[in-house]
Amino acid sequence: MFWEKQIETMPVKELRRLQIRRLKKTLRQAAKSPAYSKIFKEHRVSPEKIKTLGDIRSLPFTTKEDLRENFPYGYITIPLEKIVRLHSSSGTTGRATAVFHSTKDIEGWANLVARSMYMAGVRKGDVFQNMVGYGLFTGGLGFQYGAELLGALTIPSGSGNSKRQIGLMKDFGTTVIHIIPSYALLLWKVFEEIGLDPKKDTKLRIALVGAEPHSEATRQRIEEMYGVDAFNSYGLSEMNGPGVAFECPEKSGMHFWEDDFFVEVIDPKTQKVLPDGEEGELVFTTLNREAMPLIRYRSKDLATIFPEPCRCGRTHRRISRIKGRSDDMFILKGVNIFPLQIDTTLMNIPEVGTNYVVILERVNFEDRMIVRVEVRPEIFKGDLWQLENLQRKIADALRSELLVTPKVELVEPDTLPKSEGKAMRVIDRREM
Ligand code: ADP
Ligand code: ZN
Repeated sequence: MFWEKQIETMPVKELRRLQIRRLKKTLRQAAKSPAYSKIFKEHRVSPEKIKTLGDIRSLPFTTKEDLRENFPYGYITIPLEKIVRLHSSSGTTGRATAVFHSTKDIEGWANLVARSMYMAGVRKGDVFQNMVGYGLFTGGLGFQYGAELLGALTIPSGSGNSKRQIGLMKDFGTTVIHIIPSYALLLWKVFEEIGLDPKKDTKLRIALVGAEPHSEATRQRIEEMYGVDAFNSYGLSEMNGPGVAFECPEKSGMHFWEDDFFVEVIDPKTQKVLPDGEEGELVFTTLNREAMPLIRYRSKDLATIFPEPCRCGRTHRRISRIKGRSDDMFILKGVNIFPLQIDTTLMNIPEVGTNYVVILERVNFEDRMIVRVEVRPEIFKGDLWQLENLQRKIADALRSELLVTPKVELVEPDTLPKSEGKAMRVIDRREM
């Protein structure tokens, strides 16, 4: 059941005591970096003054912009010769940031990934195919080290090359995959094209899906398409990468590992800390990192903390599915819209295929949203009225979810641009 029972089920009070001990140590460590030593002086922060976890609120936030300003080495606390790894964010939103690890950091990170995978049911004897980019992206090496520590036979297949991926799965009897959800949908179509059914023709039993926002409806599709249990995996390079929060078999929220991260939720506008149960921006403090500790790092990711105990017995709290980044939200005709809402609506409509894109345009001073949707091949073979009906059905469903009326365009399978990494779902062509 547990990778580290004592830590995973630690009584909450004890867990908080561990956190405060590690927080104090982290602050002392952070003060050794050029960036934090300056910030601590400016804000008159003395690590010794921090007595309770609540006291963390007296410390300033760290933002992506701060990391960029102090690029590349400003947040490092140990000599360069003790640093063994550099990773970088994917740069989905703006210039990438760099994160550094010592040997101990890498071991700690691998342990968190192993713990997460074990929680989802991965065991020694599993054949694990890691179908994401290796290199600066953390999902490759992060899962590689975690899976090896766990003892699974690991196939570092990397991203893309769909036919070869399927070949590897068949040749080696892959039982567990790590895959980006939008790519899982696309890959299923390749199975279909070559006349295979992943449910019958592979030994897959678990899919670990993450790295981008996706809806519950997308998860269910992946589970049905592949005949697997799919578990949501959340992480960000600044907090190592994968292994920050992960679903347990209850599949209701992701446990975040509180022995290694102190998590707050803030109102992104006022920056006030919100109580558990309220949605806001996740703010992370590393509690167990040596080379590059980060304090109150603003992730921009929006989620809610579920404080209730979980039936699985783990005491670490859970977060909801990530709604998106605060800057993913777009405004159309005065209405706030999150891409996740569109994902939920589309993926709940069975005739909708495996890819879609949202385009925002301004025509004659008026904004409009075009939702271009690939539909199942059999729909295109049917009558015109069937297509028109479907178009209306999708537009109605989106209107009732978003409160604005989109223009829906149905396209044949395989006509929209494909992504092997994180999908770009929204293209905003409006001039600011
Ligand atoms: P970048 O920020 O450039 O994309 P990262 O590779 O560090 O670089 O990506 C981390 C981000 O990916 C997170 O901050 C979050 O926005 C997104 N992400 C990762 N896992 C998930 C997940 N399971 N659900 C939703 N979003 C996720
Ligand atoms: Zn649980």
